[in-house]
Amino acid sequence: MKPMALYLHIPFCRRKCSYCDFCSFPGHEEDFLPYLDALKREFRQSWNPEWEIASLYIGGGTPTVLSPSALVDLVQTLKSAAPIRLGAEVTIEANPGTVRAEGLAQLLAAGVNRLSIGAQSGQDRLLQVLGRIHTAAEVEATVAAARREGFTNISLDLIYGLPGESLADWEQTLAWATALQPDHLSCYGLQVEAGTPLFGMVRDGTAHLPEEDEASAMFLANTQFLPTAGYQQYEISNFARLPSADQDRSDDYRCRHNLTYWGSGDYLGLGLAACSTVADRRWTNVATLTAYFQALAGGTAPTAEVETLTPRQCMAEMLMLGFRLRTGPDPAAFRARWGMTIDEALGGRVEPLLAGGFLHKAADTYRLTTQGMLVSNAVLTRLLAPLL
Ligand code: SF4
Repeated sequence: MKPMALYLHIPFCRRKCSYCDFCSFPGHEEDFLPYLDALKREFRQSWNPEWEIASLYIGGGTPTVLSPSALVDLVQTLKSAAPIRLGAEVTIEANPGTVRAEGLAQLLAAGVNRLSIGAQSGQDRLLQVLGRIHTAAEVEATVAAARREGFTNISLDLIYGLPGESLADWEQTLAWATALQPDHLSCYGLQVEAGTPLFGMVRDGTAHLPEEDEASAMFLANTQFLPTAGYQQYEISNFARLPSADQDRSDDYRCRHNLTYWGSGDYLGLGLAACSTVADRRWTNVATLTAYFQALAGGTAPTAEVETLTPRQCMAEMLMLGFRLRTGPDPAAFRARWGMTIDEALGGRVEPLLAGGFLHKAADTYRLTTQGMLVSNAVLTRLLAPLL
């Protein structure tokens, strides 16, 4: 059977955070069940019987604004309708302030085996700037409850480069987060997107972002501090704990689902604004509830855009995503798909980047150095623009 990474998008949140430009909005309870029904219908319409679920990721939004029983029903519906690989990673995103111990126990019993908690910062002052609904103490309580209920794979999402955040603040957040002993950490730099309230605050001078040098120092703090706390960087922004020798785990705590994206594997996204890529076909769903409900009620796919990627686009994307990984693009997978080596695809463009210390040559591939990760967009543009 063909492995498929399955993503389900739950667009509802308690309220909109100041920096958020995801497809999410404050949810009305009367929409919850119709949305879940529509999601199940979309699953039945689009699932291919030759596929098996290799990983399931329920993200948002804030999936945990839905009741635990509704989420359990969703997971069970999928599991009864499609084969799921033994030991498949099943993740749900949870925001502190929206989960309780009983709900966590129900999710675990239904087969959810990874919890991704939106922590963002260890400082209440900064959480308020972001418009988060929770405090740092509520993050701590959520992690403790998840552990007590038996979750053995917990990830925390953090954001650095916040308005009013200093390097010392960020180092404090890293120390606070690692003291909670999650199994995985995602540390993304804040992107201030046009149209968000935070964008207006920065433009009006009521919010002040750290200088570029300070934000770079925060990224470097991730790469320097987290390994000393037991977390290995495996992607530019992602760090995973290695299993201890006495643990019965044949793998580690890297996010399997996201590794499919970075490895250019196929994925099916269901729900509002969800994106799917299967072979060279990519499509994105409509982004409003009305359009989504209408399409599914009429028996049609809720697709807003479809594109067919050219072979060169696919090749450039495989390299671009692969360079996000600490180990670089996979040379065997690249050769198997394109019949050429990574060296042949990149040509002489690697030389100045190697000489400048932005790239490192590894066996049959290249990887970004830490310095290269700091300016990854510029490096990847230099490397890949001729392929596009
Ligand atoms: S909880 Fe997440 S998805 Fe919801 S508004 Fe905040 S950042 Fe956006």
